[in-house]
Amino acid sequence: MKKVAPKKVKTKQVEEEATQEEEIQVVEEKGVEQKKAPKTTTKETIIEDDEVTVEKSSEGVIEVKKHETSQSTAEELSIEQKLLSLYNLQKICSKIDDIRMIRGELPEEIRDNEDEYEGMRTRIGKYNDDINNLNLKIASENTNIEEANAAIKKYEEQQNSVRNNREYEALSKEIEFQQLQIQVAEKHKEKHAAEIADKKAKIEEADEKLKELEEILEQKKAELEVIVADTEKEEKELLATAGELREKVSDTRLLSAFDRIRKSAHNGLAIVRIERDACGGCFSKIPPQRQLDICLHKKIIVCEACGRIFIDDKLVKDHENE
Ligand SMILES: [Zn+2]
Repeated sequence: MKKVAPKKVKTKQVEEEATQEEEIQVVEEKGVEQKKAPKTTTKETIIEDDEVTVEKSSEGVIEVKKHETSQSTAEELSIEQKLLSLYNLQKICSKIDDIRMIRGELPEEIRDNEDEYEGMRTRIGKYNDDINNLNLKIASENTNIEEANAAIKKYEEQQNSVRNNREYEALSKEIEFQQLQIQVAEKHKEKHAAEIADKKAKIEEADEKLKELEEILEQKKAELEVIVADTEKEEKELLATAGELREKVSDTRLLSAFDRIRKSAHNGLAIVRIERDACGGCFSKIPPQRQLDICLHKKIIVCEACGRIFIDDKLVKDHENE
């Protein structure tokens, strides 16, 4: 391939060809159109890169020259080769999917366990708050009992100095009432104590669950670490191989179709074999004539039902050990 000179050099070549009057135009570049037309035609390079050179003549004619790049000069891969490379790419991509899936579930599980752990801790905190409140209620019932007892004591003393039966009876009624109050308070205390016992049992249960979760979390985190360490290198290698295969296929449209199909396919398969006269991806039947076309490798043929690219079994088997 002929090496094209960089822009500056090109400009100099032009300068040599041009007359002195024209030289100014070239140096100024942008002012070319406004200047008086030169007698001889000169060319100015507007764009020049690996793929194309755009030249503008002094007469305003724009010329586009496409370079013969390695891409266009290299013999195009045959459909057969493209399919095979794509098939190999599929295998690599599936392996990468597998690695990511193993790793992908574990972090999610760990997150779930951590959420559960936090939830459990919050619940224990709430149980403890409840217990504190119940203890306050018990203390208040105790005060009620003390007050009732004090009242009873006072009424009993008053009974010693009553003037008649009626007064005595009235005080007895008061004493009875206070005794009832004490009974009610004792009932409440019992109820609160039972609730406290219940909450304490729940806390114990939750504590056990917390310990279990801690162990599970530790285990899963260690497992994830191992997986990441194990698969990181493999994944990198697979990604590199995938990159090489993509370069080999070197058909942007085919590759973007491949990526698109892979994304929408639940199993991540974009290129499939024919299995028992059916698409290996969605299992819809393929008519015999279409199967023949697929085996001819004259063009890329996709499944009419699911859009996956077909590759025939024989082609895969013939190259399996390459
Ligand atoms: Zn299909």
